[in-house]
Amino acid sequence: QGTLFLCATPIGNLEDITLRVLRVLREVDLIAAEDTRRTRKLLAHYDIHTPVISYREHNHRQMARYLLNLLAEGQKIALVSDAGMPGISDPGEELVALVVSQGIPVVPLPGPNAALAALVASGLPASSFCFEGFLPAAAGARRRKLQELKGEKRTIIFYEAPHRLVESLSDMAEIFGERKIAVARELTKKFEEIWRGTLPRAVEYFRLNAPRGEFTLVVAGAGEGKTAGAEDEPWRQLTPVEHVYLLQS
Ligand code: SAM
Repeated sequence: QGTLFLCATPIGNLEDITLRVLRVLREVDLIAAEDTRRTRKLLAHYDIHTPVISYREHNHRQMARYLLNLLAEGQKIALVSDAGMPGISDPGEELVALVVSQGIPVVPLPGPNAALAALVASGLPASSFCFEGFLPAAAGARRRKLQELKGEKRTIIFYEAPHRLVESLSDMAEIFGERKIAVARELTKKFEEIWRGTLPRAVEYFRLNAPRGEFTLVVAGAGEGKTAGAEDEPWRQLTPVEHVYLLQS
């Protein structure tokens, strides 16, 4: 019987990979990758020559069956997502469910994850939080989802695409009111930036500064209150470039 290894890969900075992930990627029979081009770059950087196969949104149903057969024959397979932890907002979770249902071992190799990186740097309560992933793209469904979340007391983490950022922030400002938010952009990369302030100020800021890159939003839970005192002014943190090793994927 084989094993499925869930390997966390960098969310931008090629140095963010564990020694164990590098070893497992070298040792497995096959790597199932969401974005084969991106994964091949990573493998080339670390001189790893394991065969790579595509496992992504468009082919995941057939591929899951195929991978399951290989696992049943005894192969060791590593699953890697486009970036970060496989199974978080990507098709990985369906493969894991199928493999688990067949009694085949699944081994997680922890590492980078955009949601947790944004949460811990946000300055918002991190002892209790919830992760919502992407909000629905359609305005009506998105607003309904935000209404459902209005009373949530825990810190809430969202992923958002740059072209929908302003719309989503506007809906949040309208539905949640004047709460604190941290907008984490391009984490671990050259243009890493964390904007901290209130939801209405975030709408103003990102209307004027066209959002580019990858974004994770960390929003205060209900009752956490708005920015107070010295924090009233939004705070835009640009990570000094010497702290970001320029090994972009
Ligand atoms: N599996 C990944 C993880 O563990 O973080 C998440 C995959 S999800 C398809 C991709 C989304 O994660 C992006 O649209 C963005 O919202 C967020 N994200 C990924 N990399 C990021 C980064 N470097 N900085 C901020 N957000 C990022």
